[in-house]
Amino acid sequence: MIVIMEREATAAQIEKVAERLQAFGFQVHLSRGVERTVIGAIGDKTPEKIEQIEAMPGVERIVPILQPYKLAAKEFRPERTQVRVGNAVFGGDEVPVIAGPCAVESPEQILETARAVKAAGATVLRGGAFKPRTSPYSFQGLAEEGLKLLKEAGRATGLPVVTEVMNPRDIELVHEYADMFQIGARNMQNFSLLKEVGRARKPVLLKRGLSATVQEWLMAAEYILSAGNSQVVLCERGIRTFETETRNTLDLSAVAAVREHSHLPVIVDPSHGTGKWKYVLPMARAAVAAGADGLIVEVHPRPEQALSDGPQSLTPENFARMMEEVRAVATAVGRRV
Ligand code: PEP
Ligand code: MN
Repeated sequence: MIVIMEREATAAQIEKVAERLQAFGFQVHLSRGVERTVIGAIGDKTPEKIEQIEAMPGVERIVPILQPYKLAAKEFRPERTQVRVGNAVFGGDEVPVIAGPCAVESPEQILETARAVKAAGATVLRGGAFKPRTSPYSFQGLAEEGLKLLKEAGRATGLPVVTEVMNPRDIELVHEYADMFQIGARNMQNFSLLKEVGRARKPVLLKRGLSATVQEWLMAAEYILSAGNSQVVLCERGIRTFETETRNTLDLSAVAAVREHSHLPVIVDPSHGTGKWKYVLPMARAAVAAGADGLIVEVHPRPEQALSDGPQSLTPENFARMMEEVRAVATAVGRRV
């Protein structure tokens, strides 16, 4: 349930209510909005407990949250959450673009890509160092060496960096190098990993699982939020369907659904969502038109030589074109890239 405090509630009243809830055995999460404070209380409620809390000074009313996710629900936080990564803000008027190769391959490759995407207007650099490959014989990533190269390229271009963490035991290492953790689609329901990044104080990009419903995805976000990390950005990256023309089916209706049910920012990955670079531009435009709070796109200086995901990677020239097109759409829907 959530306890909605009166506009005029004092800090002392808010604290007393939080203490009382804790004494009742609730897990308490405060959301301080511009208008008023809302207290999320998770635990077993009884009519007596509700009555007593309702009678406390400063309390306006108590609202149950009917969805299984609580902290991710719109009711908990009426204003949209904004997540800052370097100069990029997800969840505001801006539509930040994250770009870079699928995997960090060499110092030259990552630096060349970083310079190109920065010049075209990307505000966050991506690059995998731990790659979740379907085959154990495929390129698995450069691990710590890749993290170093990514961070160096980020520093050289002034871009913050996001990279995937696949295993709870790598969190500390990735924490040292990355500005944002990426949880990959295949790990969306790796609950020990979710709990661990929930304990970290760093933004998390949570990709939707290959066969996850929107509700399961929001429940995965709930794991991170309930562990104390409120900086979560969701990412729609396509789901498994019967269609084989595209690598996945990009579910843009999920953007509308997330915006309906949650306060968390949601971005779109048209690269994994389609698997074909030619489809990335139209889907990037559509994503922004649908209300996406950002994009994440794979870019490689020589896609035909890429060690992973070459067919869906944009050349720097095509990326620059995409940025131009996306800028026009953003302007048309009252946002900016
Ligand atoms: C990636 O971003 O390179 C990636 C592996 O994405 P996903 O987890 O969505 O497949
Ligand atoms: Mn990839």
